[in-house]
Amino acid sequence: MKCSFEGCPGEYEEKKIVHTVRHKGQVRVIDHVPAEVCSVCGDVLLKPETVRQIEMLLQSEVRPAEMVPLYEYA
Ligand SMILES: [Zn+2]
Repeated sequence: MKCSFEGCPGEYEEKKIVHTVRHKGQVRVIDHVPAEVCSVCGDVLLKPETVRQIEMLLQSEVRPAEMVPLYEYA
């Protein structure tokens, strides 16, 4: 699929990404999320069912598989 950004010649490729969301004020990281990533500008598209799956995962308060270090830029 062609990239949705005007003038970007890239194509979306199916990739597994690390998805970061803020849930109830806390940062949650989900690894190996299937997404479409533009090969040129890096734009990320998530399918509606993937977004729903992530929401369900966060809502279920399932135990994280791993704890990851979180760094503040500033
Ligand atoms: Zn692009």
